[in-house]
Amino acid sequence: MTSLDLRRLRIRPGEQHRERRAVELEPYDLGGQRYEPHPRDPEADLTLTRTRDGLVLELDLGARLAGPCFRCLTDTEVELRVRGREYQAGRGAADDEELRTPYVEDETLDVSRWARDAIALALPEKILCREDCAGLCAVCGRDLNAEPHTHEETAADPRWGALAELRDRL
Ligand SMILES: [Zn+2]
Ligand SMILES: [Zn+2]
Repeated sequence: MTSLDLRRLRIRPGEQHRERRAVELEPYDLGGQRYEPHPRDPEADLTLTRTRDGLVLELDLGARLAGPCFRCLTDTEVELRVRGREYQAGRGAADDEELRTPYVEDETLDVSRWARDAIALALPEKILCREDCAGLCAVCGRDLNAEPHTHEETAADPRWGALAELRDRL
């Protein structure tokens, strides 16, 4: 886990701290498949700005996730550019939960968890090898990108058989 000790930084009001950090990321489980970040610890730019009342935290990171295409299961990779912004109110304004980022606890910023959530929000609904991926054939399971084909409707789906039977009886 990558974290940042905010106490150590001693940023005064009006001051800004910038830092480039490698951020350790855990793999993602999406739709029962595993997606690995490449590299495991992408570089992130962190900018912390102390205002009069609190601390503005900004994250900027590029990441790639590798795993199977949702439709055809070919190995694929998504590249993401993620930006995040959080605010941590100073002790004076403290009680308002809204003004406190969930990623700071005990003056420590959990950069890994923040980056992980930011990436999850930026992910496309479906990870595809290409936007118009044709997927796998529902009948025979072959890759429709490599071998575009159709089957006679009557063949595989048992419901068609039942329909045909019914039709015969009528
Ligand atoms: Zn695909
Ligand atoms: Zn087929």
